[in-house]
Formats: sequence, C-alpha cells, structure tokens
Amino acid sequence: MPDIIQLLPDNIANQIAAGEVIQRPASAVKELLENAVDAGADEIKLIINDAGKALVQVTDNGKGMSETDARMAFERHATSKIRNIEDLFRIKTMGFRGEALASIAAVAQVELKSKRADDVAGVYIEIENSQVKLQEPFAMQTGTSIAMKNLFFNVPARRNFLKSNPSELRHIVEEFIRVAMSFPEIFFSFTSGGQQVFHLEKGSLKQRIVQILGNNYNSKLVSVQEHTDYLDIIGFVGKPETAKKTRGDQYFFVNNRFIKSAYLNHAVMKAFSDMIPKDSYPMYALFINLDPAQLDINVHPTKQEIKFEDERIVYAFVESAVKHALAQFSITPTLDFDLDASIQNLDAVSKPFTDEQRSSTSASSLFNTFTKKNQAHFIESKSELKHWRDFYEKPASTLISGTDLSLAIRPLHEQGLTRDFIPDRLIQIHQAYIVVETDRGYLLINQQNAHERVLYERFNYAVSGRPIATQRSLFPVSIDLAAQDAVLLSELMPDLLQLGFLLEPFGNNSFVVQGTPADVSQGNERNAIEKMIEQYKHFSTDLKFSKREKLFRSLAIQQCIRSGTSLSQKEMNSLLTDLFACEIPNSTPNGKPTYMSFKKDEMDKMFGR
Ligand code: ADP
Ligand code: MG
Repeated sequence: MPDIIQLLPDNIANQIAAGEVIQRPASAVKELLENAVDAGADEIKLIINDAGKALVQVTDNGKGMSETDARMAFERHATSKIRNIEDLFRIKTMGFRGEALASIAAVAQVELKSKRADDVAGVYIEIENSQVKLQEPFAMQTGTSIAMKNLFFNVPARRNFLKSNPSELRHIVEEFIRVAMSFPEIFFSFTSGGQQVFHLEKGSLKQRIVQILGNNYNSKLVSVQEHTDYLDIIGFVGKPETAKKTRGDQYFFVNNRFIKSAYLNHAVMKAFSDMIPKDSYPMYALFINLDPAQLDINVHPTKQEIKFEDERIVYAFVESAVKHALAQFSITPTLDFDLDASIQNLDAVSKPFTDEQRSSTSASSLFNTFTKKNQAHFIESKSELKHWRDFYEKPASTLISGTDLSLAIRPLHEQGLTRDFIPDRLIQIHQAYIVVETDRGYLLINQQNAHERVLYERFNYAVSGRPIATQRSLFPVSIDLAAQDAVLLSELMPDLLQLGFLLEPFGNNSFVVQGTPADVSQGNERNAIEKMIEQYKHFSTDLKFSKREKLFRSLAIQQCIRSGTSLSQKEMNSLLTDLFACEIPNSTPNGKPTYMSFKKDEMDKMFGR
C-alpha cells in the first residue's frame, strides 16, 4: 500500500489561510488602510470599483519598501512589526501578524508599486495566485500603492458568496470610517466607481467627526477627556438632543483600533440614562488608550472583540468619563461623583498593576458597586407573555390557590373569531388589551401584537400587486444619515416604494421624503424611517430571512400601534376585523401570541361553579 499523506502546495495552503483574513472586499480595505497608516503616511487614498469586487486600491505617501521587502511582504508571516514574542506585548502598530498581504495575494491579482525616499527608482510587482508574474523598476513618488483586482477570481465558490454591491459597499464604508476617524491627522479620500464618497482634510478629531457623520453634529459635540495613570479616554459624545432612533453613530477605539463592545456601550448608555428616551441612541466616538500589556494579545487581528485584563475598571472609567463630560457642559442636572472618587482611590489607578494588587483590587469598593443589575448581560428581557401572566396571576392567586392557571390561558385556534362576529361594544383595558366576549368565554387581544400581524400581512400583499397608496408630503422633509445607513436605505428604496414610502436621494447621504403611507402622520416621517433602519439592522445578522422579509418585519414592528395607546370603538373594531382576516391571525411574525382565549366553563370550574 502506498503512503497517502501529502503536503498541500503553497498556493492552496495560502488560499485556505486567506479565508480567515480576507472575507470580502471590505477586509482588504481595512488591511490596506492599516498598512498605510503603519507606514507613517499622512495622505491615504482609497479607490474602489464594483464595490471592491473588481478593484480595491490604496495609495499612500508613507515610507515605502525596498525591492526585497516588497517581494518579502507577500510571504506568509512576513512582517516588519515584531521580531520576537515580547514585542507582542508592546505592539503599537495596527498590523503585526504578517498575514494580510500574503492572504490578498492568494485570492486576487495584485499590483504593487513602492518607493522609499532615498531610492532613485521604485519597484513594480505583479502577483497572481501567490506567484510573482512580473517585477521591474518603476518611476514614482515616495510611498506605496497596492491594487487588489478581481477578488476571489481563483476561488469561484467564495466569489459567489459575496453580497450585492450595495451591501459590500456598506461594509467598505464602515471600514473606511473606522480607520479615518481614528487618524484625523491623516488626509483620507475615498472614490467609488469614479464618484468621490469622502474627502477628509487633516484636522482635529472634532472636525473629522463632523466631516464623517455630518454637519448636524457641529456645535452638538461634548468633549470627553479623562486622563489617569491606568488609561486615557478622549473623544466626543453627542448632546442628548442629537440621539437618534438608529444605532449608527457609535464608535469605540482601543489604542486607535476600532472595537465592538456591548459591555462598554452599556456604560455609555448608563451615563446617558434619564437624559434621552429609552429607545434612542446617543452618538459617541471614544478613544481608550492604555498600556498594550493590559490587553489580551491572543486576539485575532481581524476580530473586533477585544479582551481587557480588567474589563470592569474600563467600564467604570467610561461611564464616569461620559457623566463627567455631560456634567461639565451642565447637561445633566444631578451627578453621582462617588464612582469618580472610588476610581481615584483605586490602587490600579495610582500604582502600576502587580498580581497582588490585582487580587486586592477585586475586593475593593469599586467592584462591589458592580452588582448584577449593572451588567448588560443580566438585564432580563421581558416577554409579552410573561408580562401578561403577571397581570393575570396577581388578582387570581388571592382568590384561588392550587389551580393550574395555565389551563385557563389557552392560546387561540379553538376559539378564534370570524369577522362577522365581532361585537359592537369592545372594551380596552390598560390601553393595551381588548376584551371581546364570545359565546363560550372571552378573548383577550394584545393590540400591539395584533397590529404587528396585520401590518406584516398587508406589506406582503403590497408587493404582490396591491401597492400601498402614497400620501404626498405637503412639506417634504430631508433626512441625513450615516453613510452606512444611507447605503442601506438606497438598497431598500424599490421595496419601500411599494409600501408607500416615496424617497429621493439628495446626495451626501441625504434623502428627501416626498411621501409616506397614509397612516404615518405628517411630521413623523424622519422618525419612522430612522426607526425602521434601526430595526432592520437588528435583523440584518439573521441570515435565514430575505432582505424583503427583514424589511416587512422591521416595518411592522416599528409602525404598529403601541401598548399605551387608547383606541376608539371604531379603531378597535377595524383592528379586529383586519386581524381575523389575516392568514395567520394568532401570532406575530416572530411567534408572539396576538390573543388568548378564556373559556367560560374553565372559569366556572376555578370558581367552583
Ligand atoms: P503586517 O501588517 O501584520 O506586518 P502585512 O501582510 O499587512 O503584515 O504587511 C507585511 C509587511 O509589508 C509589513 O510589515 C510592512 O513592512 C510591509 N508593508 C505593507 N504595506 C505597506 C505600505 N503601505 N507601506 C510600507 N510598507 C508596507
Ligand atoms: Mg498589515
């Protein structure tokens, strides 16, 4: 029998490894921009075509590469940024693993041009399938330009996996913003398909934020500045009145690297609590700088999650820094400076960290203030059903003990209503439920869930040939969106038209709302659209739903009448008529019940009758 194990050829091994680093055009954008920053450039230009599928090119005026380095750069584990394992603890650059260029060269056609200041000529190199195809001297200015063409041309399975252009473009815009925002001292430009998307002059962080997120933040930013021995937090938060219904403009950077952290986001939200409505999101761009040794370096460079040695300290700092900033601008009336004091007294702040100090810190008062209720992941999600049971159980349990109430709470079918039998007089209770007497008991309808179902089915009908009428706005309003949201909205525009929303792009991430469906009240258009986008993004990680399905679900959730709205007889009647005309009247698209039925004979039993 022959032996059967073989080494994979280099280019195949590289293609497989590349999958981790380069998932889509936006991954290459991130890596190339970061390399340009690491090279010390103060001018970086990004050009893409066909949403990056055909071309991603980054040109910088950084320090350039020698001829040998330029070839070496494409080898796996080729990096100038670390020499030994200790360097990992001191890393200050964006890259360090030496994987990006090797990965790009494995899955695309690459053209590199580079020249150092002291060299007479630069070098031009063409690479395909990890193989150098051409190398020659090249006359150019100091700096580097790397063009990645036809991503995944040699891995059709992955090429087919790429999303639509608007969707890939949205990812690219996101990555661009994350880098551009952290380096306001660098000039950035971004051109897509010949159109300039961004032109960002060098300036202050504040100017950069306004350039990226829009003029409406001008004079609406509050500066955050907290310097301690343990860490620094600098940046800006938006004044409470700029909070939006959509979560777009929120950025954390740790040592200038963009990160995602639900935990730290919670700290900011806490600092803002009571100043903004529950379902709105303040703008923030916060930069946390600390000794790299306080970070877990074993995190993959393309991952945006990060591990702090001590997350709770960072949480406390973020919360107090934001509170402090809001207070200084006398935006918040009352303040809790306790947290500040306890932070200042913490050993962690006044002295360097040792292991003993770390364990004594955990017992200190700061940590005791972090009870379960302050932690995002402990916050209970209240389901409609649970709420509902509470409502029922309280009065009932004082009357009858030991009866299994779940028997009485029987969902649906058995006792639904047909539209002909909806009685004339309907009772609304708690401005949330409608009680309907039937001949065998009664139904309790949750108005919000019921309306969500009605709208969802109406939207489905709308696209299959019964478009919802548009009501032209008398005073068309314009909405400014974050760049990512603008791309998303353009993507949804054709479907939105069927649903009665008439939008027109107005350049620069703005839209004019020319009309809305009749039931969106005038003056509320902006809010309706922002909320819809937020809801849509909430679904957008859910792969099992189509774009359209996500849109329908988002709009239904966002437009339905809320609990707490009092309804007239006529409104209740038409809600019930619509509900029982639905194909699936008994639950929301997400599976929450729309109504429950209570049978008279079971109630009789409970009362011993
Ligand atoms: P890493 O950034 O992790 O070191 P990369 O594969 O991204 O790995 O880059 C490999 C090396 O190529 C870098 O360490 C750097 O020396 C060099 N390099 C890459 N891009 C540039 C650039 N734009 N200018 C100068 N040198 C570069
Ligand atoms: Mg790199």
